[in-house]
Formats: sequence, structure tokens, C-alpha cells
Amino acid sequence: MVVSIDTNSGFCFGVTRAIQAAESELQKGSLYCLGDIVHNGQEVARLELKGLATIDYDDLRTLPSHSRVLLRAHGEPPSTYWIAQQRGIEIIDATCPVVKKLQDRIRACYEQHRNDEAVPPQIIIYGKPGHAEVIGLQGQTNNTAIVIESVDQLDRLDFTRPIYLFSQTTKSVEGFHALVETIESRFRDTGIPGYRFEYHDTICRSVANRVKELQAFARANDIVLFVGGTKSSNAKVLFNHCKEANPNTFFISSPDEVENLKSKIINHKSTNPDTKVGICGATSTPLWLMEAVSERLSAS
Ligand code: SF4
Repeated sequence: MVVSIDTNSGFCFGVTRAIQAAESELQKGSLYCLGDIVHNGQEVARLELKGLATIDYDDLRTLPSHSRVLLRAHGEPPSTYWIAQQRGIEIIDATCPVVKKLQDRIRACYEQHRNDEAVPPQIIIYGKPGHAEVIGLQGQTNNTAIVIESVDQLDRLDFTRPIYLFSQTTKSVEGFHALVETIESRFRDTGIPGYRFEYHDTICRSVANRVKELQAFARANDIVLFVGGTKSSNAKVLFNHCKEANPNTFFISSPDEVENLKSKIINHKSTNPDTKVGICGATSTPLWLMEAVSERLSAS
């Protein structure tokens, strides 16, 4: 059996930056993180051992003044900064610069059109409702933006009013284009001349560019173990792309889960002693975790 780890998998730039900020700030004293620093329970546990305390919004409202709170790569709505300021909390802002730029664009669009009273505009975010990044994006519009996850939900929009479409950074490019095409066709169906539809492909290429490489890796292996956190939407998207390329792809979150797949791997090995097992992961999957899965496989 040959086991290999995908060299293109692992933390994206934004997550690496946030984790480096946490490790460096932890050396200066106690540090809180608002929400899991990354959607990977194993990495959260590693940083908690170093002293990082994960808190929620209720905790934020009761922290003593001068506490230091790190904002993760997903970003936050303006209300979080306001609460911190009111309570005298020091913010260490590790929002990914790509997300920050997207927040700024959505806020600028909202500010530009909020007073278009004759035809009130609709700002649409293609994203997962309730996802931390999406909450931060909605906050830029005073929570007026509508979140759409798929073309099935387009009945929620009013096609007699302008639409400005943006995307959560980790959504799929194909899904975004399907949405654009369907919105355009729905506008045409109204027969209203000069309809206004602006769309902005704000999907992060750090994720989108991985798909092809990940699928090539999946095809080059007989069995693929995709390592990701169950709370990570990026992990779900990339896992589905992997599974599409190689149906023998399995989602696991920890090395312990290798045990559940042993019989499948043994069956494959009995017909092909040179079975190739590939290990890959999401932008929120640490390299050390993929290495631990590899070690567990080699030991089994
Ligand atoms: S996926 Fe892209 S936008 Fe999101 S944190 Fe990573 S680098 Fe930033």
C-alpha cells in the first residue's frame, strides 16, 4: 500500500495568518477568540492547550475591560466592534484581508443604494445562512441583505427591483454562475426593460483553484481520505468535488476514524497490493492532522 498526502491541501493564507496571530499574541498574555478560530476541532483543541479561550457573543458582553479578543479570518459584523469598544475590550483583528475587502465592497454598495427610494435595491449574498462569514457580510448592510444558498430559493427575490449579487468567499464558482444565469433569465421573463442586475464574483481563488488540483489528486489514488472538520463548509464543498472525481473518497475528522475504514482498505489491498491511498483536506485542515492520519494508516 502506498500512502501520500496532497501537497496542495491544508490551511489557506487567511487561516494561516489568523493562527500565526493567535500564537504570537498568546506569548504576550491571555487571549480569547470569538468563535472557533478555524472549523477544525483538532486545531482548536491544540490552540486551547496553549491558552487560547474560545468564547461566544454572550461571553463577549461580560468580559472584563482590557481583555484581548482575537477576531478570526471569517470576519465580524460592525456590531462586534461596537460591543468591544463599549466594553473597553482590545480587538486583535485577524480577519482575512480577502474577507475584509469583500465586507468593504458590500458596505459601499449598501451605502450607495440604501436611499434609492423609488426602486429599493436588494443586496443578495450567495452563501450559507448563519455562517460566521455571512453574518459579518450581512452586518455591512444593517442585516438587510438576503442570503441565498441555491437557485431553488430565488422566489424570495423581487424581480421588479434591482439586484446586487455577491458571494461568500468559499462558495462554488459553478453554483455562482448557475445563480447568475437563472437571475438573468428571471429578469428577462418579467419583460421589464432596462432591469438592473449587478453581480460580483467574490469567491476566493485560494479555494476555487484547489478544486482541479484536488480532483487530479483524487483520481490518481484508489482510495481517498478527506480530512476535515464537520463544521467547515469549505470542507463539505471540497469533499464533494473529491468524491465526484473518485467515488472511493471518505470524509474523516480524526485519525481514530481510520479504524472504521480499515475493512474497505483491506478489501482493496487483497485485490491490489499496490493500492494507493491519498490523504487530503480543506483550507481549514492542518498539515499535522493529515500527517497523523497517514501515520495511523501506515501503522494499521
Ligand atoms: S478561504 Fe480565502 S477568503 Fe477565506 S480565509 Fe482563506 S484565504 Fe481568506
